[in-house]
Amino acid sequence: MTAKDLEERPSRLGQWPCQIQLVPPHAPYFENADVLIAADCTAYAYAGFHEKFMKNKITLIGCPKLDAVQYEEKLTQIFSTQPIKSVTVIRMEVPCCAGIVKATEKALLNAGKILPYKIITISVDGNIL
Ligand code: SF4
Repeated sequence: MTAKDLEERPSRLGQWPCQIQLVPPHAPYFENADVLIAADCTAYAYAGFHEKFMKNKITLIGCPKLDAVQYEEKLTQIFSTQPIKSVTVIRMEVPCCAGIVKATEKALLNAGKILPYKIITISVDGNIL
């Protein structure tokens, strides 16, 4: 791959802001959205994160260890009020990252929604497990 190829690779971020803490729960882009909930480190660990995981999705990010908030409440608001199409969670293999999965699953339960749901785990050497 040439430097030019890398420069021309487009961002796949579909909205702003992308932090779970900052995203407005009633934003119109959630309508019929495939939502990706990504632990912060995953985007740095997995090369090609935009193309492989973010493309055609609404991406929300956070770190369940370092952010001093509970994501469950915000995600419950989003899942309860928005006609989401699917949810994918992407986490690192390390134990501290389990919190993002737990928060998402609790929020889905709180919202009473049954949606296509997937968990992807990335290893510390940047592979999909
Ligand atoms: S919980 Fe740990 S691995 Fe996951 S995003 Fe935070 S620091 Fe990274």
